[in-house]
Amino acid sequence: MKAQIPGWEANCIICGVSITNPICVNCLEKEIVQWLLTRDQEAIPMVKGITDFFANDVKKTNCIICRAEIGICTCCYINEIYELLLQRDIGLAQELITTFDFDFSFIEAMI
Ligand SMILES: [Zn+2]
Ligand SMILES: [Zn+2]
Repeated sequence: MKAQIPGWEANCIICGVSITNPICVNCLEKEIVQWLLTRDQEAIPMVKGITDFFANDVKKTNCIICRAEIGICTCCYINEIYELLLQRDIGLAQELITTFDFDFSFIEAMI
């Protein structure tokens, strides 16, 4: 039986990279908020603001966790969170990257 192939060829509308590990901003936000609870609670409303900004985007593929439609890659979202934390606490920003083990090669190139 042939498995149904979802839109793996979908590309991020921000950076253009193909979305290989689609997780929607709401699922990511849940993880990040949980992580911030013990670290920087004041940053949580700001993270939610970033989520709202990304949540309006074009839909191209489906989240592997909740099946919501998404149009941006994990990196673009996490990168925004990273920039936010960088302004607050450099150590926390670096911890974000090691905790959320995605493909951060392009961020590392920027440091
Ligand atoms: Zn992207
Ligand atoms: Zn999701």
